Amino acid sequence: MRTGSDYLESIRDGREVWIEGERVRDVTKHPALAPIIQARADVYDMVRGDEDRLRENPSAPVALAKTDQDGEARNTLLVRPRQKEDWYAKWEAHDEISRRVGGLFSRLGDDNLGEMWSVTDERERLEGLDNAFVDNVERHLRAIETSDVYHVSANTDPKGDRSKNPKDQDPDMLLHVVKETDRGIVVRGAKFETASLYANQAFVKPTITNWGDATLSPYAVGFVVQMNAPGLKHICRTTFTDAGKAADYPLSSRLDEVEALMIFDDVEIPWEDVFFYENTRAALIVRSSIHRYASFSMLLRLLKSAELLLGISHLNVEQTGLHRQQAVMEKLSILASYHESIRSHLIAAIESGSVSGSGLWVPHQSMLFSGRYSAVRDLPGMMHIARELTGGQIALTPDSKSFEQPEIAPYLEKYFGLSEEWPGEDRRRLLALARDFLNSGYAGHKLSFQLFSQAPPFAHLAAIFNSFDFEPSKSFTRQCARIGEEARGSA
Ligand SMILES: Cc1cc2nc3c(=O)[nH]c(=O)nc-3n(C[C@H](O)[C@H](O)[C@H](O)COP(=O)(O)OP(=O)(O)OC[C@H]3O[C@@H](n4cnc5c(N)ncnc54)[C@H](O)[C@@H]3O)c2cc1C
Repeated sequence: MRTGSDYLESIRDGREVWIEGERVRDVTKHPALAPIIQARADVYDMVRGDEDRLRENPSAPVALAKTDQDGEARNTLLVRPRQKEDWYAKWEAHDEISRRVGGLFSRLGDDNLGEMWSVTDERERLEGLDNAFVDNVERHLRAIETSDVYHVSANTDPKGDRSKNPKDQDPDMLLHVVKETDRGIVVRGAKFETASLYANQAFVKPTITNWGDATLSPYAVGFVVQMNAPGLKHICRTTFTDAGKAADYPLSSRLDEVEALMIFDDVEIPWEDVFFYENTRAALIVRSSIHRYASFSMLLRLLKSAELLLGISHLNVEQTGLHRQQAVMEKLSILASYHESIRSHLIAAIESGSVSGSGLWVPHQSMLFSGRYSAVRDLPGMMHIARELTGGQIALTPDSKSFEQPEIAPYLEKYFGLSEEWPGEDRRRLLALARDFLNSGYAGHKLSFQLFSQAPPFAHLAAIFNSFDFEPSKSFTRQCARIGEEARGSA
């Protein structure tokens, strides 16, 4: 498996990345991008360290590596979930990575790999269709597992005017095939994507599937693209990274997972990387199963956010001595209940899961999707409770340099130092974390991420509708209303 430096070397591959109007020659060295890229490299090293320990001693208690079915030690997050225990192992690995990183990651690979597990589940339905190449999916999945590449996901096109069909506006508003060659297909369009500029490859597929009755469509295409493919450009959004402000912004200065608009300016995709094309049925099957596993990773990330909301709030009220106030305890209980609700959905989804077509353990779908929906829906309210409990000081506290300045530091210690247990510097650190997590540009960005990263909320609800079994409720209602029984007269 890879080390951090293997990974860094792999993305120095001539890819075309733009930020703040300038072309970036080496993404690993750009000041706005280097911190998150280094953090990703550090995760590779952590996993590799655990793998080495596991290889030396197969019964070693390590969280980040696991012996897979083929006898190879690999990243626990990338191991296919064949039984319930594999999901708990991923959960533990995710906790351990977050602990060692000291922050939250969204794109760790497991989320996006889940999309590939779903496609292999659909082998039977896809195999009968024209231009659907499930063997390519299986080969890529195996390659990711064995070569440890950083694989992400591209769904969302700019889309243009949503009221128009693709053919009635600039056709490039949705990514599409422009021609076939002997070597593969040539695609044009654009996608928004987290981490594209520092990942190795992405699974690209359509986000909308409203082609009417058409069975053939150049928009119904799915493939893997290499991030340095000729014609591919990554245009970054503005970042929150400022390595010089790490003491004041402990999360965003290191862990801003930068998104980019990926422009496909006639990019050739070799046949062996094509999963399906010109087949709306295949696109529909892939879209409808896409979050079968990936939602679990998303819900895990939300659980970690809930943990941070609780930790920030509880430590703060302990510092200020407010934790015994009844009204404060009630607010902490609301946060605890949010946390427990997410945790319960995760456990229930694992325990009530079932075996998929490809032999994987599928988390119970309507429980998982309901967990995702309610966790995303309630997140802004929970952030606001944490903001309220932390008080105005997260918005008012002076910066770290002031706390170090000998002339003014004694004043800051006097007004921020609460006790021997909580000196001024520790209080400042807690408030800086709280500000970064709740009040900063990064905090707002992360809220948008949770709202939209997998799909917008209306699609979350559609996933519940499509997976929930309404029959028992209807049957019970029929029973209570005695529907279907013979009429018994007016008495
Ligand atoms: C921080 C961040 C990171 C992201 N990372 C990725 C990534 O890695 N890969 C990727 O592919 N995408 C990514 N996205 C994009 C994300 O998937 C899209 O933003 C999301 O799918 C919504 O698409 P849109 O932004 O085009 O919104 P629109 O399609 O314009 O929708 C906007 C709103 O209009 C309403 N609406 C639209 N259509 C309907 C409908 N049919 N029914 C009911 N209401 C409707 C809803 O309220 C919806 O929220 C990311 C987004 C964010 C914010």
